[in-house]
Amino acid sequence: MDEELIKGERYTLQMEFLGYLNDQLRGFYRSTYRDDDGTTKYLAVTHFQPTHARRAFPCFDEPALKATFEVHLARETWMTSLSNMPLARVEGQEGWVWDRFERSVPMSTYLVAFVVSDFSYIPSTSGKDTLFRIWAQPSAIRHAEYVSEVGSKILAFYESYFNVSYPLPKMDMVAVPDIAVRGMENWGLITMIDRSILYDPDVDSANHKDTLLEVVAHELAHQWFGNLVTPRWWDDLWLNEGFATFVAYIGSTYV
Ligand SMILES: [Zn+2]
Repeated sequence: MDEELIKGERYTLQMEFLGYLNDQLRGFYRSTYRDDDGTTKYLAVTHFQPTHARRAFPCFDEPALKATFEVHLARETWMTSLSNMPLARVEGQEGWVWDRFERSVPMSTYLVAFVVSDFSYIPSTSGKDTLFRIWAQPSAIRHAEYVSEVGSKILAFYESYFNVSYPLPKMDMVAVPDIAVRGMENWGLITMIDRSILYDPDVDSANHKDTLLEVVAHELAHQWFGNLVTPRWWDDLWLNEGFATFVAYIGSTYV
């Protein structure tokens, strides 16, 4: 620093940073799928737990250090972008636009997320006014009906069961073709391996339907266990996982 810093003053730190859209399923990464014509389509997804947010943007990447985030994403106009919070405004010109999202509640870096894709969605409204949408590749979106139905019910059930409101105005769940885990509980933007969202009653087993329900109930339980209340360090991750797994049985039995 040129000058000494004064305790209690507010300072703004600016830095240039270049992160790459990678193929490693960590940080901000690229996933692909084949559409009905066999054409390869691309989407950009994040997976930050435990320490990969730092690959996407500079940050103090530790669970106890919560901050508010304002995400801005540039995309081509034929794609959609999503983040933890609802879209505040869109700015731009022909071809490319900036999506500017509302500032988040205080949260850990590992729960920040964004997705840019050409996916379609099914909307449903849970008990309160929470917008609840399931996203999948256009040719598979019809198989997201089951999760759309049970997901919003479980979210509303948890709110009354815990007697703690879901603190965000929306929930998006995205069926990602390539992801390193079964599901990731990013606050307001859950990403899941696509087979854990999609259910085709003509083809899939009752066992698959049960597993899917359990995964959805687990990731939604994390919105409280882990997201709202967070362990200081990764040693205590069992608190996140133990409670989410336990509560998932209650949530999935409810529906
Ligand atoms: Zn979990």
